Amino acid sequence: MKNFLILGGGLSGIEAAIKLKNKGYNVTLVSDRDYLFIYPISIWIPVKEISFEDSAIKLSVLQKKHGFNLVIQKVESIDVLNKKVVLEYSELTYDYMFIALGMHKVNVKGVENTLSICTAPEQSITIANELEKLVNKGSGKIAVGFGGNPKDANGSAVRGGPAFELLFNISTHLKKKKLRDKFELNFIAPMAEPGKKMGKKAFGNLSKFFKHYKINQHLGKKILGFNKGEILFEGDKKLESDLIIFISGGAGHSVLQNSGLPLSEAGFVKTLPTCQVEGFSEIYAIGDSAELLGPKWAAKQGHMAEIMADIAAYNVHQQITGSNKTKSYVDKISITCIMDSGDGAALISRTIKKESMIMLPIVGHWLKKAWGLYYKNSKLKRIPRIPGM
Ligand SMILES: Cc1cc2nc3c(=O)[nH]c(=O)nc-3n(C[C@H](O)[C@H](O)[C@H](O)COP(=O)(O)OP(=O)(O)OC[C@H]3O[C@@H](n4cnc5c(N)ncnc54)[C@H](O)[C@@H]3O)c2cc1C
Repeated sequence: MKNFLILGGGLSGIEAAIKLKNKGYNVTLVSDRDYLFIYPISIWIPVKEISFEDSAIKLSVLQKKHGFNLVIQKVESIDVLNKKVVLEYSELTYDYMFIALGMHKVNVKGVENTLSICTAPEQSITIANELEKLVNKGSGKIAVGFGGNPKDANGSAVRGGPAFELLFNISTHLKKKKLRDKFELNFIAPMAEPGKKMGKKAFGNLSKFFKHYKINQHLGKKILGFNKGEILFEGDKKLESDLIIFISGGAGHSVLQNSGLPLSEAGFVKTLPTCQVEGFSEIYAIGDSAELLGPKWAAKQGHMAEIMADIAAYNVHQQITGSNKTKSYVDKISITCIMDSGDGAALISRTIKKESMIMLPIVGHWLKKAWGLYYKNSKLKRIPRIPGM
């Protein structure tokens, strides 16, 4: 039986492990964390709507449900010539390998003076604690923003959605605490039109959100770095802030650097539309680790990570069984998200054919909550999977 090695136990790695197990393969999943972190719902940890544990599933529980082998160790290096992966304390070989390690971030000067919702999951708890301190103080200035990676040609590694969601949620949280007018909320981004990827309609409506949640925007100015309590823009402009939450642009995972795999300038693994790595028939790259093909507005998202896992599992199975059938994930590219604001949400969709944004006051918030419950319970086989979700 063919041995599959999956590197990474995030959204794409888990989906691939489930799909490959369903096809009867021997699957070993390696993760440096012993839990799957559901990033899309982690936006509620800072405002204490959910706990850290609510946003995580123990990998050992998923292992028992789906029957894959599990190794909790850090991947140190990948040796594609000898089909070997070096872990912290051991080595593993493979017949087929799926790279699902997620991504790293561009290093911005002084970034240690900021916190991020899109990095080590534990930072969401630190943000919650820092926010609570400010709430207890009764007033303050909070800035949330994101940057890009100039080396990322199509800008697919910009992670803007969580910044918007966190800002709107913080505003709602402060309003509930009857402190909204005591706080200054600022949004920072170096691009002139952040959020434009979501489509004209959604982008057009963003300004309404900023107005409604009383958030100042500081856009189109290069962010040179951060000091403690201070954001430094080009042109000697500074913005003071008691709490700075900044999501740097995405960059390829550092383990991939010397792996011998083909990488884009930004460090993402180059693949064919089948997710097979260029020049390596036994390696597939899925989720945030892979260079995203397709239209310029394509964005690295969880739902795309799952689609890529599904397509890769299908294609590798066809390859092993000698079929010449293949599927392309590029045909399925879309932006789909429920942009939550704590008291509602907007349902945003962009495909090659159309784009839309539907405002869902109150109910949208519960829709995203319901998605979180669906995600967890369906992965734990407590409820059936809805096809395509
Ligand atoms: C705050 C936030 C909100 C988001 N909201 C949405 C949303 O609403 N909708 C949406 O579609 N997408 C959303 N996304 C994007 C989505 O979460 C990602 O696209 C998705 O998680 C990518 O899946 P992945 O498997 O590629 O990477 P990840 O989920 O990041 O998983 C990577 C895995 O690799 C492991 N790993 C990393 N390095 C090593 C190593 N050296 N050794 C071993 N294991 C390692 C990690 O522990 C992890 O298990 C959001 C992202 C964030 C951060």
